[in-house]
Amino acid sequence: MSIYLDHAATTPLRPEALEAMLPHLVGAFGNPSSAHALGRAARNALDEAREQLAADLGGSAREVVLTSGGTEANNLAVKGAAWAGKARGNRIVVSAVEHHAVGHTAEHLAKWGFEIASAPVDGAGRVDPAAVEDLLDERTVLVAVMLANNEVGTIQPVRAIADRVRSRRGIHLHVDAVQAAPYLDLDVADLGADTVAISAHKFEGPKGVGALWVRRGTPLLAQVHGGSQERHRRAGTENVAGAVGMAAAYALACAAKPETRARMLDLRTRLQAACLALEGVELTGHPTDRLPGLLSLLVRGADGVAASVALDLEGIACSTGSACATGSPEPSHVLTSMGISSAEAMGALRLSLGRGTTTEEIEAAVALVPRVLAGIRDGSAALAADPLGSRIA
Ligand code: PLP
Repeated sequence: MSIYLDHAATTPLRPEALEAMLPHLVGAFGNPSSAHALGRAARNALDEAREQLAADLGGSAREVVLTSGGTEANNLAVKGAAWAGKARGNRIVVSAVEHHAVGHTAEHLAKWGFEIASAPVDGAGRVDPAAVEDLLDERTVLVAVMLANNEVGTIQPVRAIADRVRSRRGIHLHVDAVQAAPYLDLDVADLGADTVAISAHKFEGPKGVGALWVRRGTPLLAQVHGGSQERHRRAGTENVAGAVGMAAAYALACAAKPETRARMLDLRTRLQAACLALEGVELTGHPTDRLPGLLSLLVRGADGVAASVALDLEGIACSTGSACATGSPEPSHVLTSMGISSAEAMGALRLSLGRGTTTEEIEAAVALVPRVLAGIRDGSAALAADPLGSRIA
């Protein structure tokens, strides 16, 4: 038995996206910058993919910058907006629970004269729009708040934050929508942001391709230099097959979002109830304003890594936090920002469902996950109570 419950880390490539990509990997291999027929065919495919993606995002094609994924899209937005605004100010406000693609990028900018202010979150991982507003001053050039968190699934009140940020002219609002885009209704023009990042492999598209939507007229300095691709905003020969696969996957995801959401919410609720019935197991993140398929747990006194290894041995793939943090002994910055102690945060576990998750898989997980968690919890408790055991550990 093998049950994949790590869709927040990545999703399988859907067959329709693969089918759309294949001609551009094999026969139609031209460079979109070439003037000959093969090049023109590649340019047409790229233009169509961009048009489709832009329409599904609620923007226009010229506002879409294709990138190598969510990390690059976030880097372009954060560095590009910060440097574009440097003459006016050097202050950047970043939520405390951003993905490292945003948080570490801001930390990098701190080495270059930018001042970083961290917008706090409450116990559910939610940013208070008034707290963001309090952090704004005349020198602020950029605010970055994600739409939904990758570790605990909490959805941020981005529209309310946008209202407060946009009332101050000249402050750029960046929104990382990488986790939200597959499941939440997303209309970039409506969101009130200046830039929005997405990544194809989170919605059953290919890995290594993403996009940054950039509101028309937004000042942004390119971070990759070379050719004039992407209207001078991102140099490099375009990933035509990747863009085609991303557009195909996102169109299909959009067409089914309401049904996907409802089904995933139902399945996640069942798994959640079974896990929370165990003593010492708690839900992290917001109880209701959260991604439909993301179940984030804290197993009190247990080691999340041990729990995920034990589940893996039973055929269930899940994660201890964000995939990027795997292997790192550090507690999650998301959980500690929410007021959870570093020691407790080591008991974090994330089970994330996807569009393809079946009822049978969740029924099997309902039978298995609580049993494995109880074993880990009781084993850890026994180890902690036994001085010899704790020395061995
Ligand atoms: N932002 C968030 C919220 C994510 O969850 C991830 C990936 O886990 C990224 C950014 C990075 O995206 P990519 O893997 O496409 O670089």
